[in-house]
Amino acid sequence: MPGSEPEIHTDVCVIGAGPAGLTVARECIGAAFGVLVLESGQYEPDRAAQDLAGSWTESPFYEPHAMSGARRRQFGGTANDWVHVTWPGKTRVYARTLAGEDLDFEPKAWQPDAGWPITKDELLPYYDRAHRTWAGTPVNDAVAAWSTPSTPPLTLGRLGTRMAQYAPADSFTLRARDELAAAPNVRVAVGWTVLSLESLPDGSAIRRAEVVRSDGSRVWVRAEVFVLAGGGVENSQVLLSSAAFAPGAPGNRYDTVGRWMMDHPELRLGAIQPSSPDLLDQLGLYDLHYVDNQLVNGVLTFDQEFKRQERLLNVGAVLIPRRPGFNSEAERALRTLKPLLHGHRVSQPLHSARALLSHPSEVAAFLRAFDRSTPGNWQESMDAYQWFRGGWSRSEVDRSRFSTLHVHVATEQSPDPENRLSLGNQRDALGRRRLRLRLGWSESDQENLLRGMALFGAEIDRSGIGRFDPWLRFDGPLRPHFGGMHHPMGGTRMHADPRRGVVDENSRVHGMGNLYVAGSSVFPTSLGYVNPTLTLVALSTRLADHLRSRLSTQTSGSLRATKEGSSPG
Ligand SMILES: Cc1cc2nc3c(=O)[nH]c(=O)nc-3n(C[C@H](O)[C@H](O)[C@H](O)COP(=O)(O)OP(=O)(O)OC[C@H]3O[C@@H](n4cnc5c(N)ncnc54)[C@H](O)[C@@H]3O)c2cc1C
Repeated sequence: MPGSEPEIHTDVCVIGAGPAGLTVARECIGAAFGVLVLESGQYEPDRAAQDLAGSWTESPFYEPHAMSGARRRQFGGTANDWVHVTWPGKTRVYARTLAGEDLDFEPKAWQPDAGWPITKDELLPYYDRAHRTWAGTPVNDAVAAWSTPSTPPLTLGRLGTRMAQYAPADSFTLRARDELAAAPNVRVAVGWTVLSLESLPDGSAIRRAEVVRSDGSRVWVRAEVFVLAGGGVENSQVLLSSAAFAPGAPGNRYDTVGRWMMDHPELRLGAIQPSSPDLLDQLGLYDLHYVDNQLVNGVLTFDQEFKRQERLLNVGAVLIPRRPGFNSEAERALRTLKPLLHGHRVSQPLHSARALLSHPSEVAAFLRAFDRSTPGNWQESMDAYQWFRGGWSRSEVDRSRFSTLHVHVATEQSPDPENRLSLGNQRDALGRRRLRLRLGWSESDQENLLRGMALFGAEIDRSGIGRFDPWLRFDGPLRPHFGGMHHPMGGTRMHADPRRGVVDENSRVHGMGNLYVAGSSVFPTSLGYVNPTLTLVALSTRLADHLRSRLSTQTSGSLRATKEGSSPG
C-alpha cells in the first residue's frame, strides 16, 4: 500500500460496533481520552458490507455457509439478527441472557483445555453491571425470584431450573447510537473496514490499523490502544490478515490464532408425552413470559454437583409445546423441499428426502394438521412456529391443541485446537482472504451427550409427568445438521500461557503491549449452554475499566481527544 494515505490519530481505537465494541465505547464515555469506533457496516443493512462476512464451513454437521449467515455487518452488529419475540404483534426483539455457572469456569480432569484464567466470582460484579446497562435490571437466575403459586418449578430429581432473562436488541442497535453521538470523547465511523493491523518492527505493539472506507478510499488509524471487537469470527480474521507485517500475525507466535473454535448447537433432544392433559397448564414458568415487566423463562439443567460427578457436558433444556407432527423432521423436510414445486433449487435435497422416507407417521400427522381451506397455509405453519416459541401459557391460548413437549437443548462443545479458523484462498471485494472453518465434533462429546440424554429421560420418566422419547442420534440421515452457527466462540482464547491461548486474563494479546480483544472469541470454553452475549458484555465492561485505569496513568499530553484535531469526517 502506498504511503500517501491520510493518517488519523486517536487514543483508543475500537474495531467493530457490535455488543462488544459498543460496550467498551459506552463504558469509556466521559473519560479523559478519545475513542474512535470503526464499524465496517452502516447504520442500515448494506449488501456490500454484509458480503465481507462471507466464509466457508467444512463440517459434517454444518451447512457450508453456516458462519456467513449468522453475523450481521451493521451498527449494532449481530444484535440486528436476534430472534426472541414474545408473540405476534410484539416487534421488539430480545436476546436470552444467562451467566455461566461456577463449573463452567473450572478446569476439568476429563476435559483437556477446559478452565478459565478468571473465576465466576471475579466476573460477578461485571455480569451485574452489564445487565443493568443493557436491560436496566440486575442479573437474577434464581427460581424463587420469578415463580409464583400458579407457575411453580418442576420437581425432577437432579434436574433443576435456572431462570433465563431477556434483554432488548435496541439497547445496541438504537440506544447506543444516541449515547455515543452525544458523548464528547467518542466518535463512530461507519463504513470503515479494518483490513489489518501493522505491528512495530519488533512486534511488541500495534502501530496503526489499515482501513478501507465504503467509498474505496484508504486511511491509517494510529492509536495508543486498539480493541479488536469485530465478532467471534472476524477477530481471528483481522489477526491472521495482519501476518504480512513483521514478525507475523499478532498473538500467533505459537500458531494459536483461530484454534479452539466452538458453538452451542441447538439439538432436539426428544419429546415428553404428558401423562395428563393438564400438564401444560402447570408449566407457565417454562414459557417466555413477563414477570414485573421483565421477560423470563425456565431452563432445565442438572445440578452442578451431579454434572461434576457424572462428568457431563453442560447442557440446558427449554420446553416447547407442539401440536402433533409440528416441526417434526418430516415437516422440516417438506418445507425445505417446497421450493422444488416452483422450479427452484434447494440445498441438500437428498438429506430432506431421506428424512421424509424415515418418518412416514410424521408425514401423515403433518398432512392431517395441514389446513387445505386456507390460502397460504404453509405460511401459517411457519407463523405458528414463531408464535409458540413464546406466549403459549397466556390465558387466551387453547393449549388442548398441543400434544407433546419438545425438548430443545443448547449444548457445550469441548474445546479442541483442531477446530480451527484459517484464511482460505477465496478473496472478498477488498482483497482479503475469506475465512474457512474446520469444525468436527468429538466422539467423546457425542457419547457424553447421549449419556446426558438417557439421564434426562430417566428423571422425566421417574417424575411421573410423562414419558420421554429420546430423539438424538449422531449417525445416519437424522444426525444433527445446522444451517447457522449462532454462537461462534474461541479463536483468540484467553489463557495465561501464550502456547495455549491468544489473550491474557485482561484480554490483552500475548506479547502485544497495546492490543486487546473483546467478544466471544476470547472464551476458553463455551460456558456450557449459556448464550454468550451477557458474558462478552461483562468482559467488555471489565476491559473498559482496565483501559480507563491504564490510560489515566499516561501523561495527558500523549492523549488526543478524538473529537478534536484530526478526526473522521
Ligand atoms: C440468530 C441469532 C440469535 C442470537 N441470539 C442470541 C441470544 O438470544 N443471546 C445471546 O447471548 N446471543 C445471541 N446471539 C449471539 C450474539 O448475536 C453474539 O454473541 C453477539 O452479537 C456478539 O457480539 P460482538 O460485538 O462480539 O459481535 P457482532 O455482534 O458480530 O458485531 C461485530 C461488529 O464488528 C463489525 N466488524 C467486523 N469486522 C470488522 C472489521 N474488520 N472492521 C470494522 N468492523 C468490523 C461488524 O460489522 C459488526 O457490526 C445470537 C446470534 C444469532 C445469529
